[in-house]
Amino acid sequence: MAISNELLAELKQKLVSEKTRLESELSRIGKKVDGNEYETSFDDLGRDKEDNASEVDEYSDNVAVEDNLEKHLKDVASALERMEKGTYGICDNCGKEIEIERLQAYPEAKTCLSCN
Ligand SMILES: [Zn+2]
Repeated sequence: MAISNELLAELKQKLVSEKTRLESELSRIGKKVDGNEYETSFDDLGRDKEDNASEVDEYSDNVAVEDNLEKHLKDVASALERMEKGTYGICDNCGKEIEIERLQAYPEAKTCLSCN
């Protein structure tokens, strides 16, 4: 393992704070259904046509944002899991070690630069 314990601790800290940030963003626009699954909340803003149209627009925006955040949260959570298992920093695709520079820039990376 090319990653030093020091760097690993630093990356773990980054991932944990990123996870907290993502979870708070997600709880703002959606509700947690199970584990790391979120559902976008649909706020009932009003009954007339105009209100409903903006409601739907807002809802589809939130769905897209929510999808992105949720995907990111899953990557972060799975990186933390790999740290627990001791498989962190290994490319999912070719099994080689992921470049340190890449992990520093993107701690949730699952693949090395050539497989990305
Ligand atoms: Zn690779």
